[in-house]
Amino acid sequence: MQPRPSTLSAGHRQILSAISREGSRSRTELATLLGLSKATISGLVRDLLAQNILCEQELIFGVGRPSVSLAVRADAASFIGISLQQDPAVLLLTDLHGTVHARVEIPRLSDPEQAIRSLADGILQLREEAGDAAERLSGIGIALPGFVSHDRHTCVTCTALGWRNVNIGTALAERTGLPTWVENDANALILGEQLFGTLRGSPDFSMVFVSHGIGCAHIVNGRLLRGHFGGAGELSHAPVALEGFGALPCRCGNKGCLETVASLLAISNAAHRAGQPTDISTLTALAAKGQPEPLAILHQAGSAMGLATAQLIQMLDPSHVVVMLDSVLHDSVFGHALLKEAETHILHRAGVRTMIHFRDFAAESFAGGAASLAAHYFIFGPEAG
Ligand SMILES: [Zn+2]
Repeated sequence: MQPRPSTLSAGHRQILSAISREGSRSRTELATLLGLSKATISGLVRDLLAQNILCEQELIFGVGRPSVSLAVRADAASFIGISLQQDPAVLLLTDLHGTVHARVEIPRLSDPEQAIRSLADGILQLREEAGDAAERLSGIGIALPGFVSHDRHTCVTCTALGWRNVNIGTALAERTGLPTWVENDANALILGEQLFGTLRGSPDFSMVFVSHGIGCAHIVNGRLLRGHFGGAGELSHAPVALEGFGALPCRCGNKGCLETVASLLAISNAAHRAGQPTDISTLTALAAKGQPEPLAILHQAGSAMGLATAQLIQMLDPSHVVVMLDSVLHDSVFGHALLKEAETHILHRAGVRTMIHFRDFAAESFAGGAASLAAHYFIFGPEAG
């Protein structure tokens, strides 16, 4: 049994959701946006001001009387984000604006019972470190490299941890008394972008990350695209090389997946086979100097990523694709090949164009995404997708 998430009513959540999506708004603007009477809005806003969840900001001058804009307070709630993407596991404590107030690292353990005990200890340590910022702690989010059940409590499979059907969400909720949500790492990242990032409120966009592996997630019509079995948009295992044309075996059991060509591990393996340095920064620097082998390896990886990005754009028609990758790859043969290949294979239409952005991939990105996951359910409610 998960604890009750909060005492916010559906009406309160409507106000919070609207301000989170649209930014600060006046009572009159909220009434128009939500199709509710001004009296109803005033009552709901009064409750949220009394609970210190909203605050009144500057005056808005327009037609008629000036009005006061309402914003969500940063200290209205705090959240814990846990990334099990890599060892060590990273735990962050953030506020409702996504600002990080404390950080703890603990060993990432594979045995589920030991992992849960160690995470519960890590949470105690984090709360201590955060001090006052840990007041109003309202939820925990966990991001992991695997598939997660539709109720967002159970890790269905995670190869990196060797987990099958581990209900880590409920176990941690029982230990901490806090609602706990589990999500695939890429999904957590995109929910963070939707809530706090520059694409806040965008209804249709995709995110891809290029790390040791490759991950991908999509917001479609304002909601996370999950697919029937929770694996929608799993670009990493999209086939990009045909059997007999240099297709390499993938950890999923197939051959020629994108991850076997374009992930950092694949690039490093290719460099090793060619007798080149396997470190991505060194390899990129050598390619920049015109060394043929490093150039060829990074060009092939970037081109494959570009092809996959073009396929993604053709299928989902997003307004933006955010590609998160190591900063050394942005302005490199990898980045250039990615953009060129994507550009070449997108069906061009007059006046519309999907924007591809490169974003630096930071070590904290997944834990930040996990905290956003808890913030997402605090604002939009446990029924939100
Ligand atoms: Zn694969």
